[in-house]
Amino acid sequence: MMRRFQACSYCGKTFGHKQKLRYHLRLHTGEGLLHCGVCGKACTNAYDMKEHLASVHGETAKKNRRKQHDCTACGTRMKTAKALEAHLAEAHPDIGNTCEE
Ligand SMILES: [Zn+2]
Ligand SMILES: [Zn+2]
Ligand SMILES: [Zn+2]
Repeated sequence: MMRRFQACSYCGKTFGHKQKLRYHLRLHTGEGLLHCGVCGKACTNAYDMKEHLASVHGETAKKNRRKQHDCTACGTRMKTAKALEAHLAEAHPDIGNTCEE
C-alpha cells in the first residue's frame, strides 16, 4: 500500500503526516509560530520549543534539578520540601491545618 505523502505547497518538502505538514507550514506563513523567549528562535510547535529550550538553553533540565519550594504564605524560598514543611509549622502554624472543622 502506497502512503500518500503530504507536500508543502511552498517548498515542496514532503511529510508523512498531515499534522507535521501543518506545523511546517507555520514556518512559511508565520502563523502560530512560537518564539523562544531567550534567543528568539521560531519553533513550529510546543514540543519543538520544549526540545529547543532543553537542548540549547538547558531550561527543562535546570528546572527539574532545582525544584523550588516556596512558602505560599510569605514567599520564603526553601531548598527542600522538608525545610518548607518545618517553616510552615514554625512561621505559619495556622496554615498547616488546611481542613477547617
Ligand atoms: Zn515548506
Ligand atoms: Zn532559544
Ligand atoms: Zn512562610
